[in-house]
Amino acid sequence: MAERIPVFTHPDCVRHDPGAGHPETPARLQAVLARLAREPLVDLRQATPAGPEQLLTTHPEHHLQLLQAISQQGGGAVSLDTTASAASWAAVLAATGAVREALGHAMETGGHAFAAVRPPGHHALSNRAMGFCLVNNVIVAARAAQAGGRERILIVDWDVHHGNGTQALMEHDAGIRFVSMHQHPWYPGTGMAHERGVGNVFNVPRGAGAPRQLYVEDLWAAVHAATEGWPPDLVLISAGYDAMLGDPLGGFTLEAEDYAGLTLRLRERFPSVPLVALLEGGYNPSRLSEGVAATVGAMT
Ligand SMILES: [Zn+2]
Repeated sequence: MAERIPVFTHPDCVRHDPGAGHPETPARLQAVLARLAREPLVDLRQATPAGPEQLLTTHPEHHLQLLQAISQQGGGAVSLDTTASAASWAAVLAATGAVREALGHAMETGGHAFAAVRPPGHHALSNRAMGFCLVNNVIVAARAAQAGGRERILIVDWDVHHGNGTQALMEHDAGIRFVSMHQHPWYPGTGMAHERGVGNVFNVPRGAGAPRQLYVEDLWAAVHAATEGWPPDLVLISAGYDAMLGDPLGGFTLEAEDYAGLTLRLRERFPSVPLVALLEGGYNPSRLSEGVAATVGAMT
């Protein structure tokens, strides 16, 4: 019998509100949760929010205090392109709790898990919010996994944008390898193939509008290159769905079944290794919900 896959979330992740008309809308996560609620093999779980100290592996205290203060004042701009609302600090702590519980499930049982969270994280730098991201969820997860003894962590970032924050936070750490496929040239402008960190960064910049098979096969080739002779003991997925055809913030052409295919390939290549996927972007809520459902379905 297929295993039920836990999806960790929290209502505070829906309450974070960057403002009317903003593409990173609460409707995104609402659509995902409504879609997953119809999946018999999905076990939706409400996480316990984290304490702020659990973010100190990744961010200095002053960054966290700034986010908290802006929320307490009722919201406002955190950086040029990123806004917090009164509910955003609570959303950050709830998302961190969901990410940590998804990771905890993987570490304790060896099973796969998904964290359905907002705000997204992969653009957040150590001391700066950007690109709708307040804290870097996938690096928080990687640091917690390292504290738990994981030594070779593969991060696969299939969001249409380069995970510049993730790269900046891991590029000196040989215990983490980062594979990112993203549209280029595009926001945030980083992610060239020659950016290699300490040999642990594998960027796959590609132009818009190519056949979907090209994106899938090029991403897969980079996963191969990153893990040849370097078997990961954990795979984290920065799971953005703005690389799907028709996304308002991207020009790639992927379909929901491509995420299922990539998830299955990761399971086949790393058979006893847990996969933990964290929601990043994806700005067509209905398409996003299909992409997430395909990913979680391929984990069962
Ligand atoms: Zn994105």
